[in-house]
Amino acid sequence: MKHLLGICDLKAQDIEKILDHAQMYAEGLTNGSYDAEKHKGKIILHLFFENSTRTLTSFEMAAKRLGAEVINWNRETSSLKKGESFMDTIDTLNAMRPDAVVLRHSEYGAPNYIAKRMDCPVINGGDSWREHPTQALLDALTMRQHFGKLAGLTVAIVGDIAHSRVASSNMGLLTKMGANVRVIAPLELMPEKLAAEGVDKFTDLNEGLSGADVVMSIRPQKERMDKVLIHDAAYFNDYGLTHERLAHAKKEAIVLDPGPFIRGLQISDELAEDKTRFLYAPQVANGIPTRMAVLDLLLEG
Ligand code: ASP
Repeated sequence: MKHLLGICDLKAQDIEKILDHAQMYAEGLTNGSYDAEKHKGKIILHLFFENSTRTLTSFEMAAKRLGAEVINWNRETSSLKKGESFMDTIDTLNAMRPDAVVLRHSEYGAPNYIAKRMDCPVINGGDSWREHPTQALLDALTMRQHFGKLAGLTVAIVGDIAHSRVASSNMGLLTKMGANVRVIAPLELMPEKLAAEGVDKFTDLNEGLSGADVVMSIRPQKERMDKVLIHDAAYFNDYGLTHERLAHAKKEAIVLDPGPFIRGLQISDELAEDKTRFLYAPQVANGIPTRMAVLDLLLEG
């Protein structure tokens, strides 16, 4: 593996290997039993063309936990503002020889484009609605820690399936790992063609939740809609997750969300506060060992 551009490029055994490595780091971070200087002297360049709270901070912490240094390139103060082209900016930064690049970009497939021009590993930190591979990996790590497996789990992904790179990467990963995957969305937010084969579509929340082990909530991605596709109150009424709605899933079902999650739109306050059912904080925590694993595997070559 030279780059991590999308789950679509990985086989089940690659995913298993990354998750095993991430689990090793998750345990290492808890008991201090890992090499915190393993990548001392390396410099990771973060090129974030879109806003980010979790992914950017989590990649930065992951690099620093491995002893590497990070440069957070800033689009606003860059020469793109003086008219330099994206391609020339990328070539300029490549000439400085970073050890790895993490890219977030709104253009479909931007990481694949820059991977062809860069001499170092490129990691996709989210592109358009296409892929967000490290999010799907950390979600999988969280499910695997909770249930001890991925194969055979029933995972219901609820929300903006049409515009979500998280939904796309999760469909790809979970079907490869043998989970039963469903998507639940109003017709306006349901794409005709899904990112993976063998995923069942539902428009009714209660029906889609029936028998689910995991319910993954996906925020309506209003920034990617060119017109108003949902009305908040009606959306919460039909697709908002509450304890009552969750009762249609399995008794021990858990709820995940990549964040940012919007209370009163995607999830009720009561459910968002229920730490036994809503495993958002463990997901965020798992972002660090997952990204350490990815960085480590790519930096080692
Ligand atoms: N943080 C995730 C992403 O960058 C999910 C979201 O924004 O809804 O795609």
